[in-house]
Amino acid sequence: MNRHVPFALIIATAVAVVAAHAPGQLGYEDTPMQPNGKWHIHDGRRPQPPIVTPSTLVATPPPADATVLLGAGSDLSKWQMKDGGGPATWKMSDGVLETGKGYIQTKEQFTDFQLHVEFATPPKVEGEGQERGNSGVFLLGVFEIQVLDSYDNQTYPDGQASAMFGQFPPLVNASRPPGEWQSYDIVFTAPRFTGDKLDTPAVVTVLHNGILVHNADAFWGPTAYRQILPYQPSNAHGPLALQDHGNPVRFRNIWIRSLGAAKPSA
Ligand code: MG
Repeated sequence: MNRHVPFALIIATAVAVVAAHAPGQLGYEDTPMQPNGKWHIHDGRRPQPPIVTPSTLVATPPPADATVLLGAGSDLSKWQMKDGGGPATWKMSDGVLETGKGYIQTKEQFTDFQLHVEFATPPKVEGEGQERGNSGVFLLGVFEIQVLDSYDNQTYPDGQASAMFGQFPPLVNASRPPGEWQSYDIVFTAPRFTGDKLDTPAVVTVLHNGILVHNADAFWGPTAYRQILPYQPSNAHGPLALQDHGNPVRFRNIWIRSLGAAKPSA
């Protein structure tokens, strides 16, 4: 009898068990620490936000003073490709937009605003974690509120639906099932600069399906994967951008109300 075989099996089994229960398996621990020193960026050990089932979605029609960026009967004339600035090529049909190749962004630039966005992840569930229904709403083109199918789909908490991606998980997981329409209501204050110096960071309040998930939280900087970028004076204003992450996500009923601040010239 070969006494090495059982020993090897024991070791292999032990390694497999440790790997299966390794902390941080949902995310990363080799990324930089976030500025408050509590968690790594995309730390999988961070507590999963509690699930709070939202009530029935009530679509919010645009108020009279809103700019409708996507609505019934609208085309994509207010949008363009992020790279190159050519006409937006995503598919638009009966007021519903489906993600296509490349990010799109508004031609108009914004500073402070109230924003309403409705989205739906694919009804047919494919992929796991970050590969399931991933898109994103990029405020000023650089601060991402994550779009993801986070219904029965764990990932690193700062990357789930309605997270300030790579920075703050939502207070709760208010996701609806795949294929159902969901909403984000976002109040955003742009960062302020004096020359090159940051005076106040970007601040956001977000409701996911009517439930508060960020309460006047400040971005540490522009969004990036596995890092947090430093603020640049150019972040003082920007477009609204939607992410192509290779998954077919639908959008409808997007409207925005600019608040107070003088509009920058585009
Ligand atoms: Mg995304």
